[in-house]
Amino acid sequence: MATKTIFQKIIDREIPADIIYEDDRALAFRDVSPQAPVHVLVIPKQPIRSWADIADADAGLMSHLTLVIRDLAKKLELADGYRVVCNCGPDGGQSVDHLHFHLLGGRTMRWPPG
Ligand code: 5GP
Repeated sequence: MATKTIFQKIIDREIPADIIYEDDRALAFRDVSPQAPVHVLVIPKQPIRSWADIADADAGLMSHLTLVIRDLAKKLELADGYRVVCNCGPDGGQSVDHLHFHLLGGRTMRWPPG
């Protein structure tokens, strides 16, 4: 069996995380190395490696994650705005091979990203 990613270990409760939301398809927890006052990772429980590995059949799951992020931003009171980021592959800066979305807020973001 392939080695579990750190995020799979969080899903399986093998390592701790500050989990702020969970349902049957999604999990959200605070990033261990926050880059903004609010920095949450939203992941599918299904082990999709990256944005590039999303299948057509995952369209419903992706819609669900979109709404989870929207609702979390509201719950976290990011009324002034926020940024949603998905790093894909080596050039995208992805370091964990389990699809995840960064929800960043609580400060003004800069553009372009590095
Ligand atoms: P990526 O660079 O792949 O887009 O994002 C991976 C994110 O996962 C990074 O922001 C990193 O800080 C976070 N991260 C890595 N390991 C852990 C961990 O064990 N726990 C939590 N909560 N976040 C982690």
